[in-house]
Amino acid sequence: MATSNPTSNKCVTCKKTVRKNQQAIDCDVCKNWTHRSCDTDISKEDYMKILKSETEFSFTCSICRVSVGNFSLNASLDTISSET
Ligand SMILES: [Zn+2]
Ligand SMILES: [Zn+2]
Repeated sequence: MATSNPTSNKCVTCKKTVRKNQQAIDCDVCKNWTHRSCDTDISKEDYMKILKSETEFSFTCSICRVSVGNFSLNASLDTISSET
């Protein structure tokens, strides 16, 4: 098991360290961080609400979104093959 160091989180999109003064959100699935500005589609206003916990929010990073996308692609391929 790798030692987790919460002070050196890296953004999954740009691979740069997420600093304390940067806006970032952690993935619900892998718990890794993404800068808000990198690939989140979260507005500044929404981010502020999330910080204040005014809104329930779950975020899935680009890497986990890809694996979810592959899963649904497999499901649709399965549907196509069953038609023949
Ligand atoms: Zn980033
Ligand atoms: Zn993730």
